[in-house]
Amino acid sequence: MKDIYINYGTNLPKITYELMEAAKIADRLNPDMKIGIKPNLVVSRPADNGATTHPEIVEGIIRYLQAFDIKDITILEGSWVGDSTQLAFKNCGYTSLAEKYGVKLLDTKKDKAVQVKSKDISLNICESVLNVDYLINVPVLKGHCQTGMTCCMKNLKGCIPDSEKRRFHTMGLEKPIALLNTVIHPALHIVDSVCGDLSFEEGGNPVIANRIMLGVDPVLLDSYGAQLMGFKPDEIEYLRLGKSYGIGKYADEDTKIMELGAKNRPKTSVSHSSTIKKLSKYIEADSACSACYAALVYALDKTGGIRGECIKIGQGYRGKKNAGIGVGNCTSGCESYVKGCPPKASDIVDFIKNNH
Ligand code: SF4
Repeated sequence: MKDIYINYGTNLPKITYELMEAAKIADRLNPDMKIGIKPNLVVSRPADNGATTHPEIVEGIIRYLQAFDIKDITILEGSWVGDSTQLAFKNCGYTSLAEKYGVKLLDTKKDKAVQVKSKDISLNICESVLNVDYLINVPVLKGHCQTGMTCCMKNLKGCIPDSEKRRFHTMGLEKPIALLNTVIHPALHIVDSVCGDLSFEEGGNPVIANRIMLGVDPVLLDSYGAQLMGFKPDEIEYLRLGKSYGIGKYADEDTKIMELGAKNRPKTSVSHSSTIKKLSKYIEADSACSACYAALVYALDKTGGIRGECIKIGQGYRGKKNAGIGVGNCTSGCESYVKGCPPKASDIVDFIKNNH
């Protein structure tokens, strides 16, 4: 198995199914298994706002599981403190999804909690999460106002009661998130990187990337996701702790990645957000892929823009000599450019800081 599988596109059930096929997930399943699917429904807002998991991705997962005759499937989630999970299930499209495919919905806020010891502290965990045979974590890769970013590791916070969520904040959030990942071990992570928010967990500024990723190591996926968003993995404290606790390793040049659908990456469409429209003033795009454009948006947000000329990006620049600077291999004809197809936002951040 590769470390990370990536697929691009707008037909989300299809590209999710393709990812699971490519990774041969069926080899790890049997029809008698009790499967749990944990999306991110932190708030009751539809996924195109940038906060919650697209139900179409969960639909692709269910179709794949049911094709292998798996019958016992439960979608488990508990929205953040103060929000109703039931409302989130309804408004985010999960109530109708569950009815369509005959799967169960479980609100972890109503679940019994059990105490589990992790290193020096006891954690309260929702029992149902520990009782499934195979847990599939389906987080959104997006910004977070306290931790910088959130993805696989932090998404497990929906697996603890509200009282424990409050306690996590009094404990500084980073360490308990890392500890939580020592006691809950999803067998699989499928990351919704379709339009995760620029900087807030509750959405509002979606950055369109049209990408889904799959893997089994949450630290690896999160550290890769951090770089896609313009961070160095060590800048995210719970990631640094997670690595030190032995939960997983960081993505690096040895990480084995399989990209599906790279030739069919959708072209960018800038989201309705005024913040992102402001950042796009620094960009001269010509047929840019959405994943490439998203990396540049995240990078410009981190650097606060760029002085002087705009940055070129997109397939329209391929094979042409151009003055100025570019992002992505298509702009190799520029005076200087950031390598990658698509490049990581962390490399673009370094490039901007070193050159401007
Ligand atoms: S470098 Fe070109 S082909 Fe590659 S992701 Fe960017 S725009 Fe698309």
